[in-house]
Amino acid sequence: MQAPSVGGVMLPRGNGETIRLSRGASLTDFAEKINANPASLVAVMMNLGEMVTATQSVSDETLQLLAGEMNYEVQIVSPEEEDRELLESFDIEFGEDEGDEEDLVVRPPVVTVMGHVDHGKTRLLDAIRKTNVIAGEAGGITQHIGAYQVSTEVNDEERRITFIDTPGHEAFTAMRARGAKSTDIAILVVAANDGVMPQTVEALNHAKAADVPIVVAVNKIDVEGADPTKVRGQLTEYGLVAEEYGGDTMFVDISAKQGLHIDSLLEAVVLTADASLDLRANPAQDAQGISIESRLDRGRGAVATVLVQRGTLRVGDTMVVGDAYGRVRAMLDDNGNNVAEAGPSTPVQVLGLTNVPGAGDNFLVVDEDRTARQIAEKRAARERNAAFAKRTRRVSLEDLDKVLKAGEVQQLNLIIKGDASGSVEALESSLLQLDVGEEVDIRVLHRGVGAVTESDIDLAMGSDAIVIGFNVRAAGRAAQMAEREGVDVRYYSVIYQAIEEIEAALKGMLKPEYEEVELGTAEIREVFKSSKLGNIAGVLIRSGEVKRNTKARLIRDGKVVAENLNIEGLRRFKDDVTEIREGYEGGINLGNFNDIKVDDVIATYEMREKPRV
Ligand code: GDP
Repeated sequence: MQAPSVGGVMLPRGNGETIRLSRGASLTDFAEKINANPASLVAVMMNLGEMVTATQSVSDETLQLLAGEMNYEVQIVSPEEEDRELLESFDIEFGEDEGDEEDLVVRPPVVTVMGHVDHGKTRLLDAIRKTNVIAGEAGGITQHIGAYQVSTEVNDEERRITFIDTPGHEAFTAMRARGAKSTDIAILVVAANDGVMPQTVEALNHAKAADVPIVVAVNKIDVEGADPTKVRGQLTEYGLVAEEYGGDTMFVDISAKQGLHIDSLLEAVVLTADASLDLRANPAQDAQGISIESRLDRGRGAVATVLVQRGTLRVGDTMVVGDAYGRVRAMLDDNGNNVAEAGPSTPVQVLGLTNVPGAGDNFLVVDEDRTARQIAEKRAARERNAAFAKRTRRVSLEDLDKVLKAGEVQQLNLIIKGDASGSVEALESSLLQLDVGEEVDIRVLHRGVGAVTESDIDLAMGSDAIVIGFNVRAAGRAAQMAEREGVDVRYYSVIYQAIEEIEAALKGMLKPEYEEVELGTAEIREVFKSSKLGNIAGVLIRSGEVKRNTKARLIRDGKVVAENLNIEGLRRFKDDVTEIREGYEGGINLGNFNDIKVDDVIATYEMREKPRV
């Protein structure tokens, strides 16, 4: 329905009806709900004094303002709410313990270690793990599954603590961003010889925002020049006042390297938990919790580490984790032992899921396989819709200039994959800050850590996005798929290069350049040590051919771990050869570079001049 104009703009008008929009919706999403032309909503916003493009994601307030102006009520639905509604439709309540007070039993605190880079987070996690393996389980092979549990004695009582084994606040924020609360207590590591640094403050702010109590580990007290008192003084400015100064934060001086006072730190965690938190859960219900880390294992399929938050998870249970589901085929604890069940605050690795869930996805056990499948499918569909809702037409960086001029796109869609969430976020925020004039918007449809996958290419196809791989490569068949479908995948290892190129493309100034052409990939099957040549990779050529004297990079678990290598030596049996083709085995020598492992992939390439399109 069209109503009279406001300030010269024809205004779609409602009758006070309520429309529901997902958080972060754009004017286009809004327009779709009321069957209006997005351009008219842009005009309305302009009249209200706000410049907003049709496809940009806007704040809740903007949506409310716009709705008010057009006589609609708007109800903003957060992704968490949407999910809760989905679960409710199956009569499932997530996040609350069932039963009464008396059904609740004390559970161990779950701890994340945060702090500035190089202050000793990783070392501390190792030290804790080494000195406090739970009795009776010692001797098992320590396995990194993303979390582990230790035991310590406090006031003659055995107490357990669960540690999330990914140091740093990326994991913490990623999970929190998805509405998942994984952490009860944060250990803030501050090196006594370095003091409070930018990421110390960042970590502290994350913990505060999440309302998580902090225990401060003042590390590296063995180092000369260590000044634990100064650290206490500095942190006072951020509201963390040590108990000995009359505050309520426990500070413990430690040396992760020498294993000093680790027990006191654990005790401080337990005491802080007892003093400020009521950590209890009902072990006698269907298990619920969150996923911490997952990967695809060649032999075992999807392997997900989950943290049970309430209830007890058992082998044979049917579970949904994010958009993955399945029946628990086996469970392994952090020592690699098979276990039959896992109670509250216990991390376990679960086998038997259909696919790999994301970190921070919630999990729940349901009665029937069918329910699990339906929930998983609905979630997957929702994610797909959210991504596809942003679609425009397919572009490449080279022809961007032309389509821009022709007025065919107003938006450059990007998918960013990288080796670490930090670099991905840094790249994303730099790109979003690019000032490229008014005609065009940059929009990041999807970002993530890990190799460029077929599903990334899928999304790029559907939404005409350009894929950026930062220190990662395409995995499996993704490269061929991109090639076949004409999806532009760009690889970078330096942030500013990525930014420069995108900026140049947006300004229509992309120079013809040398293009990297992949020649072949070789999978390392064995590593031979030679006293003369260093490490030799015994390989099977997986694709293309590998030639001597070409460039190579080393990929481990989908991530680029070394660039600019040279295929210096190439052998088949005892003979030096110049090339080896797909399907054959041989030996590769990378010159001085020796950091190779079984299952690494050596990808070789050549630079060729790229014709201007
Ligand atoms: P992260 O970046 O916070 O995970 O820091 P790491 O755990 O990787 O530690 C950074 C460096 O500091 C490594 O070389 C550690 O061996 C060293 N380090 C960590 N803790 C201590 C400590 O207590 N004393 C000394 N002397 N060195 C430490």
